[in-house]
Amino acid sequence: MTEPYRILHSVFGHHSFRAYQEEAVNAILAHKDLMMILPTGAGKSLCYQLPSLVMDGMSVVISPLLALMHDQITALSTFGIKASMISSMQSPQEIQETMHACRKGELKLLYVAPERLKGESFFKLFTNPSYQFFVIDEAHCVSEWGHEFREDYRQLFRLKLYFPQTPIAAFTATATKIVEHDILHQLSLSNPLIIRAKVERDNLTIKADYRNANGREQLLTFLSAFEHESGIIYTLSRKETESLAQFLNTRKILARAYHAGLPTEEKNETFRAFLNDEIQVVVATIAFGMGIDKSNIRFVVHMSLPKTIENYYQEIGRSGRDGLPSSTLLLFSNSDIVEHKRRIGEQPASEYQKVAYEKLDAMAKYASSQVCRHQHIASYFDDTILTCKTRCDNCIDGEKQSIDISHEALKLLSSVYRTGQRFGLQYVVDVLMGSTNEKIVQNGHQSLSVFGIGKDRTKAQWLSIGDRLMELDAFKVGEYRVISLSEYGAKIIRERLSVSIHAKRLEERQKVKKTKK
Ligand code: ADP
Repeated sequence: MTEPYRILHSVFGHHSFRAYQEEAVNAILAHKDLMMILPTGAGKSLCYQLPSLVMDGMSVVISPLLALMHDQITALSTFGIKASMISSMQSPQEIQETMHACRKGELKLLYVAPERLKGESFFKLFTNPSYQFFVIDEAHCVSEWGHEFREDYRQLFRLKLYFPQTPIAAFTATATKIVEHDILHQLSLSNPLIIRAKVERDNLTIKADYRNANGREQLLTFLSAFEHESGIIYTLSRKETESLAQFLNTRKILARAYHAGLPTEEKNETFRAFLNDEIQVVVATIAFGMGIDKSNIRFVVHMSLPKTIENYYQEIGRSGRDGLPSSTLLLFSNSDIVEHKRRIGEQPASEYQKVAYEKLDAMAKYASSQVCRHQHIASYFDDTILTCKTRCDNCIDGEKQSIDISHEALKLLSSVYRTGQRFGLQYVVDVLMGSTNEKIVQNGHQSLSVFGIGKDRTKAQWLSIGDRLMELDAFKVGEYRVISLSEYGAKIIRERLSVSIHAKRLEERQKVKKTKK
C-alpha cells in the first residue's frame, strides 16, 4: 500500500479517496502548483492535510474563517496531527509560542488568518525553509470578480515573490472562469494542475417560485414533505430569522434562529442541537453555513433572493451531502432585488460594487428563468451539462405552463431593429407602448411603424418578454445595456420562429406591480 493510502486509512479512517482527491494529493506531493474548484463538502481539506503528513516539515494554510480554522485544528489534533493558528484571536505571547514551535519543526500545519498578511513582516517570519507548500483556502477571496473579495487576500501575490520555489495549492468551492483566471494570475501559479469538478449536484431537486403575499404558507406546504427531516431556511434579515423560527414553533416544527448578532453560546448551542438532530430546522442569515459538516440535511429553503449565484449554489449545496435525494426551494420577489440594490448602493462606488450589481442581476435572471436550473447554474460556472429532465421545476413543469409569445417576440425584436439597435430594453418597450416621453419625441421615434403596437400588453409584461428573449440569446447586450439583435434574434424575425414563456412570468410581474402601487 502506498503511503497516501496508508495515511488515508490509518489517520483519517476513510476507505477510499473521493472523486478528484487523489489527483490533488499527488499534485501536491509532486511539488506542483494546484488550483482546485470542488463543491462544499466534497472533501477539499483532506487534499492538503494528507500530503502534509506524507511530507517532512510544515505547511502553511491561509484561511479567512477563524471558526473553521479552529475546528480544523481541533479535528486534526484528534488524529494526532500537530497544527496551530495565527490570527487576531491569539495574544502576542501565544503567537510567539506558535512561531517558536514552527522553528523547532513541531508543527505539521500552520493556519494563518489573512489579516496577518498586511505588510511584509509576516512574510519575513517565514525564513525557516522547512515548510513544504502553501494552501490558500477560499481562494476566490483573492478576486474582485468573486463574491467575497478580501483586501488582505491581495497580499498573497507576495508568496511567489518571497518563496518562488514553494508550491501553492489554491482551493475554492465556486469560481467562474473569470475568477479562476484571476486567482491564477493574482497568485502567479506556475503551470498548475487545475481540477474543476462538474458543477452538477445530481441528488438535488431544485425549485424556485415567486413568493406570494403569504410566503409562509408556501413554506409550510413545502415543509410538509419533510416531517422530522433536517433543513436550513435562509432569510435576508436577522429579525426575520427570529420571527420565522417562532412561527414554525407554533406550527410544531422545532426551529431555532441563527444570525451573527446572537451571543456566541446561543449560536454554538443551536449548532450543536442541529448537528445532533435535537431541532429540525435552523432559520438563518448567511452567517450560518460556512463549515457546516452535517451530512443529512434534506432541504434548504431561501425565503428571499440570495445576492449571487455563488452564494446560492454554496447554500443549496449544504443539503444532501450524504448523496441522498434532497430538495431546495427558492422563494423570491422583486422587492428582494430592490432591497439588495439598496444595500449595494450603500457601499462606496467601486469596481466591486459594479460586480455586485452584475451578480445580483445574474441571480435575479436565474430565479425567473425557465431553462433547466441545473444547466443554468452549470453554465454560470462555465460548465456544460445536459438538462436534468426530472430534477428542477423548469424541467418537471416543462411545456405545461408555457404560452406562445411568438407574436410579441416579433414586435419587440422589430422595435429593437427599427430604433436602430442603440437603446436599452426600457426605451424600446416605451416605443412599443406608444409613450411620448421627451427622448422618444427627440429621436422622432413616434413616427416609426412599431410605435404603439404593444399597447395590448403592460410594460411589466413587455419587460418579462424582453428577459425571456435575453435568456434565449436573441439579444446582444452592449455597453450601457444597449441591446441589439443577435444572429438568433435576426433568425426569429426572418424565419418566424416560435417563442414561448412560462405563463406565471407574465402574471407575477403584474401582481408585484399591482401590490406595490
Ligand atoms: P470541503 O472543504 O470541500 O467543504 P471537507 O474537507 O470539510 O469539505 O470534507 C467534508 C466531509 O467529507 C468531512 O466530514 C470529511 O471527513 C469527509 N471526507 C473527506 N474525504 C473523504 C473520503 N475520502 N471518504 C469519506 N469521507 C471523506
